[in-house]
Amino acid sequence: MNRIGVLTSGGDAPGMNPCVRAVARTALFNKVEVSGIREGFRGLVQGEVRALSARDVGGILQRGGTFLQTARCPEFLERKGRVEALRTLHEAGIEGLVVIGGDGSMRGAHSLAEMGFPVVGVPASIDNDLLGTDMSLGVDTALNTIMEAVDKLRDTATSHQRAFVIETMGRSCGYLALCAGVVCGAEMILIPEREVTLEEVGQVVENAYARGKAHAVIIVAEGAMLKAQQVAAYLDSLDVGFETRVTILGHVQRGGSPSAFDRMLATRMGTRAVEALLAGETDVMVGLSGRDTVTVPLAKVLSAPRQPNLEYLEMARILAT
Ligand code: ADP
Repeated sequence: MNRIGVLTSGGDAPGMNPCVRAVARTALFNKVEVSGIREGFRGLVQGEVRALSARDVGGILQRGGTFLQTARCPEFLERKGRVEALRTLHEAGIEGLVVIGGDGSMRGAHSLAEMGFPVVGVPASIDNDLLGTDMSLGVDTALNTIMEAVDKLRDTATSHQRAFVIETMGRSCGYLALCAGVVCGAEMILIPEREVTLEEVGQVVENAYARGKAHAVIIVAEGAMLKAQQVAAYLDSLDVGFETRVTILGHVQRGGSPSAFDRMLATRMGTRAVEALLAGETDVMVGLSGRDTVTVPLAKVLSAPRQPNLEYLEMARILAT
């Protein structure tokens, strides 16, 4: 293999930059040229490719976001778009591709591999919803961002005897909300994987007040069946003793300098992705399994979403007494 390509696709995640750096420098160390593709699959379809030198990936290790830019690319869902992409790859002399992104991007990577092009994926998604890896890039940084925000909100909640309903990202996976609830000592955690009624939330908050708590923190994943505003309106209507406030954390959760954990994971996964390509592996994703990096067939990764550990809900409930 003389040249490989690397792209970042879908939702951005802290850790994408250190991963691109690791991919580029591992390839160059192995005397393989590297091309960076701008804006994910869109850049492949539109032919936005440029050579990356070791210096081009300098100074990005500590930066959030992705210097290659990312995008969503509907054309790539169609075979026609993917054929355009293959043409770009061929014209640029790229013989293998590293795709860094979430589950949609892994689907794109899989469909390209099925057309015969060597592809290795790296999971980057703050939701941690990808099967085949214990952790995806960006999860740890996002969780730390949420933790800092919730800690601050709890300070003000305690001062004013308030109930704070805090919405985190996580449209179909409650991992971030669940772990944030544990590490921030939330009174209640609402996630898409577990149905809860308004009455149950009301009961928990009322009990917390009755037990003399100075605040109540309720963490709600954006994809939970009950929405943050709806929960807050219900609590207000109950008049439980706490005044209620809602905070939607939003896109701050995607940004920020990658944590030490994410830099380490990104570096290991990027290195492993290149080693896998050079060893002739394709249609696989790099995953973290315990302390090891592994490669997992993309077909397996895409067979089902990763489920968070629902036992944490019970643990958080017991510890919030
Ligand atoms: P993420 O990777 O963060 O989950 P998306 O779901 O938006 O983000 O996917 C990113 C891109 O991956 C899409 O814009 C599209 O170009 C490509 N993609 C998603 N699903 C498929 C699919 N089934 N086949 C081919 N390409 C896909």
